[in-house]
Amino acid sequence: MWQRKGGNVHAFLLDDPAGLTLFDTLFDTDAHRVLAEIEAMGRQVTDLRHIVISHAHRSHIGGLATLKRLSGAAVLSHAWEADVIAGDRESQRVPIRPQRPVLAYAPVYYLQFGAAVGFGKHPPCLVDESIREGTKIGSIEVVHTPGHTPGHVSFWWPERGVLLAGDAIATYPLFSPGWPAFNLNLHQARDSLHKMIDIGPSFVGVGHGDPLTEDATEKLRVMVKEAEAKGLLGRGPG
Ligand SMILES: [Zn+2]
Ligand SMILES: [Zn+2]
Repeated sequence: MWQRKGGNVHAFLLDDPAGLTLFDTLFDTDAHRVLAEIEAMGRQVTDLRHIVISHAHRSHIGGLATLKRLSGAAVLSHAWEADVIAGDRESQRVPIRPQRPVLAYAPVYYLQFGAAVGFGKHPPCLVDESIREGTKIGSIEVVHTPGHTPGHVSFWWPERGVLLAGDAIATYPLFSPGWPAFNLNLHQARDSLHKMIDIGPSFVGVGHGDPLTEDATEKLRVMVKEAEAKGLLGRGPG
């Protein structure tokens, strides 16, 4: 599922014998796109058992409170993100200066502006369980991939070679190691990217833009190498 508002933001729904698991919740607070997708699968919202959040940025948690209320699903996130999701702490501000190249990132500047001035908050929602490196959610394993935010996590489905990389990787508006202005710690981001290359996924879903469906690991390796050469992932040892 995806939504243009929120920067071509994507969310993923996994149908597992244990029930439906949703990864992130898109931008809209009424969650209508997610609800329509559940219906299109011939399922009901109460079949949703787990809602797992990659990190507490606005585009990914818009529909969370509504979906929890309608489904009764358990909400899971890394502990560092949980109090932001609950509305008890503001997410760390990002710079207001436009990201480069300016024209490419112009369509998502409203999101950067919101994150820079603390405007446009999500409906708060309590997190039920915290997740960390190695936590298993059905057949999915949590991989801690900090850098974009401290509690940013990705999700690895070994049986299918699928990695959901959240905002550690973006393919919109450019294929990049996340949106530059939003990455809080570049050294951590770089380590997390190498961790994902080492995992060796064949399919990579990302928070913004279309997934990498072919030669995903090789594409990722090339992109990270170029980003490092351009100094986009910081200098010096990681
Ligand atoms: Zn983000
Ligand atoms: Zn995002």
